[in-house]
Amino acid sequence: MLTRPTLRPAPDTPARLDGRHPGAGPAGRASRQVRPSGRVRAVVAAVAARVAPRGDTYDGWVTEAEVTSRTGKRVILAKPRGYCAGVDRAVQTVEEALKLYGAPIYVRKQIVHNKHVVQTLEAQGAIFVEENEEVPEGATVIFSAHGVAPEVYEQARSRSLRAIDATCPLVTKVHQEAKRFAAEDYDILLIGHEGHEEVIGTSGEAPEHIQLVDGPEDADTITVRDPNKVVWLSQTTLSVDETLETVARLKKRLPMLQSPPSDDICYATSNRQHVVKEIAPECDVMIVVGSTNSSNSVRLVEVALDAGARAGYLVDFAHEIDDAWLAGARTVGLTSGASVPDELVQEVLAHLAARGFTDVDEVVTANERLTFSLPQELKRDMKAAAAARG
Ligand code: SF4
Repeated sequence: MLTRPTLRPAPDTPARLDGRHPGAGPAGRASRQVRPSGRVRAVVAAVAARVAPRGDTYDGWVTEAEVTSRTGKRVILAKPRGYCAGVDRAVQTVEEALKLYGAPIYVRKQIVHNKHVVQTLEAQGAIFVEENEEVPEGATVIFSAHGVAPEVYEQARSRSLRAIDATCPLVTKVHQEAKRFAAEDYDILLIGHEGHEEVIGTSGEAPEHIQLVDGPEDADTITVRDPNKVVWLSQTTLSVDETLETVARLKKRLPMLQSPPSDDICYATSNRQHVVKEIAPECDVMIVVGSTNSSNSVRLVEVALDAGARAGYLVDFAHEIDDAWLAGARTVGLTSGASVPDELVQEVLAHLAARGFTDVDEVVTANERLTFSLPQELKRDMKAAAAARG
């Protein structure tokens, strides 16, 4: 288990500051322009105001070289980061249910894997439980964004619970694929992490057809009934590169292995990994805000290290950052997992600014606009309540 470890020792020597860290790619990256935004833009604007010659106007654009030359210590802030559409929907589901039905609202498992989010919802009246048996008969229970097996719906029905399903639609998509391939009598190789809630939920759709493949090594020991009728699916929050490696190893043994109809690793997971890969080669330290049980957050630390960051840490809160991690560092990368509200990242920025990392350079590799509507059963009750109010 990854618990805020020093995953790679801090460097003895400071990083090169010209943006051309060995392995960083073409020299052109050094003059790449990036667009700061929001608070980041304000910080950079303040710096620009201090250094701009009279008559110069700040137009919101700076080069990396300019930023670095101002203080020598900088933060590269990744975007996309933080909340994805599925997490946003799940958190809103609990908030709206609390407003509509009143406290307490029971939530089976952590609604999303983030300590801060869970604590905040608890303070509003949510009660987090592990299983339906802990929910009083007739009460309201919300199923988490990670999805549940069909038997969990059955248990809820048998206890007369009002169940609201906050499973991310992109997880539901994988469930549908599993059901469809099982109905066609395929062997399904589900690439994922043993014991993860999403894997348990997906496997529950067709336990007699699904085998778990937990990483590339597992690929060597898999056996199937018919090598011509086998498909792989995956957990939504895996490392893109490791999954490709696992699939390549599976295909060596099973050349007829079919791929899912569309990517199972979700857009949010792959976008957050992509931007981290872009910035990691320039980072002495990569800080990922996220909880240790958040698969996509843990993957971001691993991806950063694989892509060239010299050290990587996972923290829930700014105060967990050890000053020793920053000793000798000139460039700190910062990102957050898909279940992390941005206020926690802003607190890390403030923490870093207090330690001299006042220049913030936001690197944007994608703009995400996807949103999901609230669960049908909740929307229906909200509509009925609105109609009753007149
Ligand atoms: S990480 Fe992906 S699958 Fe998980 S909740 Fe977010 S969008 Fe959905």
